Amino acid sequence: MAHCPHFDQIREVTPGANGCEDCMKTGDTWNELRVCLTCGHVGCCDDSKNRHATRHFEQTQHPLIRSLQAGEDWGWCYVDKIYLDKMPRLKRRGPWSLLARWLGR
Ligand SMILES: [Zn+2]
Ligand SMILES: [Zn+2]
Ligand SMILES: [Zn+2]
Repeated sequence: MAHCPHFDQIREVTPGANGCEDCMKTGDTWNELRVCLTCGHVGCCDDSKNRHATRHFEQTQHPLIRSLQAGEDWGWCYVDKIYLDKMPRLKRRGPWSLLARWLGR
């Protein structure tokens, strides 16, 4: 499994919203969603016009995000620019609650 030095910044986050928080404020639309694994910020992907997940990294330096799309468990480290194919599984209480344990443990 791919790894990077920033895994110690992963927290048991709960996604802050069920859509891109910043797009919802401005009434914009998005394509896919990414969740920050440090604070739970939900932002839109780089295929979306506002790219809020990337902007969140630029503003906070939180390095790791994970796909919030159903059935996807890959992540990305903005600092190392590496694709991580198995991020911690989302623990779903409701449809949008997250992340308690590592895959396979
Ligand atoms: Zn990293
Ligand atoms: Zn957005
Ligand atoms: Zn964050």
